[in-house]
Amino acid sequence: MIPQPTPRGQTPPASPRWQASLSDLVTDPRELLDLLGLDAGLLPAALAADRGFRLRVPREFVARMQPGDPADPLLRQVLPVGEELAEVAGFHGDPLAEARHTRDAGLLQKYQGRVLLIVSGACAVNCRYCFRRHFPYDDNTPDTAHWESLFATLAADSSIEEVILSGGDPLMVSNRRLTWIITQLAAIPHVTRLRIHTRLPVVVPARVDDELPGILAGSRLTPVVVIHANHANELDDAVAAAMGRLADAGIALLNQAVLLRGVNDSVTAQGALSRRLFACRVLPYYLHLLDPVAGAAHFDVSDAEGTALVQALAATLPGYLVPRLVREIPGRPAKTPLAAGIALPPDRG
Ligand SMILES: *Cc1c(COP(=O)(O)O)cnc(C)c1O
Ligand code: SF4
Repeated sequence: MIPQPTPRGQTPPASPRWQASLSDLVTDPRELLDLLGLDAGLLPAALAADRGFRLRVPREFVARMQPGDPADPLLRQVLPVGEELAEVAGFHGDPLAEARHTRDAGLLQKYQGRVLLIVSGACAVNCRYCFRRHFPYDDNTPDTAHWESLFATLAADSSIEEVILSGGDPLMVSNRRLTWIITQLAAIPHVTRLRIHTRLPVVVPARVDDELPGILAGSRLTPVVVIHANHANELDDAVAAAMGRLADAGIALLNQAVLLRGVNDSVTAQGALSRRLFACRVLPYYLHLLDPVAGAAHFDVSDAEGTALVQALAATLPGYLVPRLVREIPGRPAKTPLAAGIALPPDRG
């Protein structure tokens, strides 16, 4: 076929495929239950819990769920349920005391040499266990003028070696914006590493479009992308291909997961996750114990159970496929590893 000339000024540039996915998310619990052929009896609780923290999930992620299974490990991460409404002692709005570590709006620092920038308050998916489910993003997402002042702050602090782009999800912004941010960071001589904390390539693998690997790997900074997947079923062939495009660009790929009751709290599930990650060219990094955020207590796995699970996992896998089990304890200089024989203080924030 002969391509038709485009009449000038009539056709807006087509939005990239990943942006089309993001503008067509499943946000209605009724629709999610319908798509999976699930019992409408789940709906009243879903609607009640949805009011506090909205359902939000890309269709390509729903497609990886098992129809008819209310206990599907991917569904459980996104479907609002009645248990979220229970008030449980010890589970708070800001479990990690992030408000205390905010150096400036959009700039968090807890650890030496690394700072975290909130690039976007939005995510493609709302994970029910998210420790930032009550985070005040509106106060923390910088505009361009504020970005300039954040770059000046970073340039003036030579102790900063690594900048972590986070959120929300930092890959929610356009390639143009990312390029600008990375160019500004690369102009700061003492910054040497660029880290991206993102779940977007897992839930919407098309986000790793033709440009993205080059943007992340194309500056003076050594890039590392830390994805977030909790279950092997999340990592379908499209995700594997997306990871391949990042790896081929020379980007180190790591995964962080959260240990979640009813999702991945077994040696079988963790073993399958590690094996599948490696097949996708990603190494397991952290396995986080749940942060005690209000509304997520039903996902909690105890320190003792988590420790036993990871020890059993270590007996079945090479060391490089065993994630580091950690808990974040506010005020500590690093995430706190759990290991055999090391008792944790009983304080949980
Ligand atoms: C977890 C975290 C980091 C990264 O910690 P690493 O141990 O370097 O992976 C950095 N900043 C903040 C605020 C964090 O919560
Ligand atoms: S993608 Fe990350 S920040 Fe966003 S809701 Fe899920 S866990 Fe929270």
